[in-house]
Amino acid sequence: MKICVYPGSFDPITNGHLDIIDRASKVFDKLIVAVLVNPGKNPVFTLEERVQLIKDSIGDAPNIEVDSFSGLLIDYMINKNSKIIIKGLRVVTDFEYEFQMALLNKNLNPDIETVFMMTNSKYSYLSSSMIKEIASLGANIDEFVPDIIKNKILDKFNVRKG
Ligand code: ADP
Repeated sequence: MKICVYPGSFDPITNGHLDIIDRASKVFDKLIVAVLVNPGKNPVFTLEERVQLIKDSIGDAPNIEVDSFSGLLIDYMINKNSKIIIKGLRVVTDFEYEFQMALLNKNLNPDIETVFMMTNSKYSYLSSSMIKEIASLGANIDEFVPDIIKNKILDKFNVRKG
């Protein structure tokens, strides 16, 4: 069984992430969305909130698991019996960082492959930081996140509108 892991901060999940999740879950037998416990960063949403927002967005999808991890991704992958990392690629600036990470992980464990999926052009400019910024300023985020989690995000910034 081909199990892949899609790691990230997901602070919060966006339609761009969901597009990658949907496509990768069709290519592989099982997909694990792995939310990174990032003590260094200061996430706006707690780990539990980030996991819950993803679960709410995905709904009932038998071959998708939502989990969290801390420490080295490759150690987590061994625990999960997976050898495939999924990454989404947006603009050219993503490439340099992701290229470095992929080579580093390959160096740490040569059995692990990183597979890149190009962003859907609709979401090429979309990032969690952008959602946070515009939501906190009271902008409409309907196009960028699923309806089911929209109000939870707006609540965080105290800008819920009907
Ligand atoms: P960000 O805070 O930049 O959204 P994450 O750590 O949550 O980043 O992202 C996890 C993964 O999802 C990364 O591989 C990232 O490139 C990818 N990703 C993020 N946004 C998009 C998007 N709009 N389209 C495709 N892939 C994306």
